[in-house]
Amino acid sequence: MQIARRIGRLGTETAFEVLAEVNRLKAQGQDIISFAIGEPDFDTPQNIKDAATRAIRDGYTHYSPSAGILPLRESIARYISKTRGVEVEPEEVVVTPGAKPILLDSILSCVNEGDEVIYPNPGFPIYESVINFMGAKPVPLPLLEERNFRFDPENLRMSITPETRMIIINSPQNPTGGILTQDDLEAIARIAIQKDLWVLSDEIYSRMVYEGDFRSIVSIPGMKERTILLDGFSKTYAMTGWRLGFGIMREELAVHVARIETNSNSCTATFTQYAGIEALEGPQEDSLAMIAEFERRRDLIYQRLNDIEGIKCVKPKGAFYIYPNVTEACRNLGLSDSRELQQYLLHKGGVAVLARSCFGQRCKGEKEEYVRLSYATSRENIVEGLGRIKRAIESRS
Ligand code: PLP
Repeated sequence: MQIARRIGRLGTETAFEVLAEVNRLKAQGQDIISFAIGEPDFDTPQNIKDAATRAIRDGYTHYSPSAGILPLRESIARYISKTRGVEVEPEEVVVTPGAKPILLDSILSCVNEGDEVIYPNPGFPIYESVINFMGAKPVPLPLLEERNFRFDPENLRMSITPETRMIIINSPQNPTGGILTQDDLEAIARIAIQKDLWVLSDEIYSRMVYEGDFRSIVSIPGMKERTILLDGFSKTYAMTGWRLGFGIMREELAVHVARIETNSNSCTATFTQYAGIEALEGPQEDSLAMIAEFERRRDLIYQRLNDIEGIKCVKPKGAFYIYPNVTEACRNLGLSDSRELQQYLLHKGGVAVLARSCFGQRCKGEKEEYVRLSYATSRENIVEGLGRIKRAIESRS
């Protein structure tokens, strides 16, 4: 039987494959500490769970509008207006099962086959996958260690062609933990306005900033009408399994994105949306405590990593990832790249990390090796896991 050609262009999130391998090894009785998973290890706050069970008891178990229930869209509009300093109407909000569909839907709605889309690299692998899947051309914008994993504005300028249709940005960033500064955002905004481009701003980690203030490109004058802002509940409220996210975009586009949702998901689970209202409007203490703990873990993992021979890393400013340079460690161990180091650490060290190759194709001229560790795991695991990494790496050097 035939499989459509476009499926050949669809990538994946290799993190899920590593997770499957970790689970297989654990099932065989091996003791693995995982830094691979990109989700909070905290439970969803009780008030949010209670709101969901209340909604189920009250009968909110049927279809709802494809763009989301009005009270949640109102609540999101208020939240974004307040946090980004721009006026947002409920008609400009589309609620989706997780934030991920906003990526697919906005590229489907705004980008034609053959168009070019600039995206951060290393980056969330779904950007590259979805751009390719749509028959568009992914144009990587390298994030540079020497610039604290920000891009070089000259690189951005050189990447623009008459075919460029969209720029994807992500701050705080997965996998580097870097954040874009106001100057970076203004450089992107100037180009986007001048060249009439869409900007897809992935702000899923917006609440997890440990140094400086979070800035959104949507706040820059002239940007609201061309920005698709992606955010959601998965990370901020430890709700990855609930599948609840949203996009903010001009109303004419929101209509099309909602229509794609009508064609694919019909709607986001209705009782989950009621839980979303409680998440935004209810007490924030649990979320804030979780984020404060991530910051303490960041300091711990940063210090322990830099204490390992052959590893050096930039201190992340946000999200819950750290992206150390492991070039020398690979060389000392006689390993050809970070993928081999990932396998070495998993099988010899009992520690799961993700190799650079999990975060998009290598950029032209990129020579260094990196791995990503998620510190969404306990301090005990960080201490034990980093001890294992140190022993595994230094024993051979
Ligand atoms: N964007 C980035 C940068 C992410 O890291 C993730 C999840 O890992 C998402 C979007 C998707 O979030 P959700 O689980 O809400 O679909």
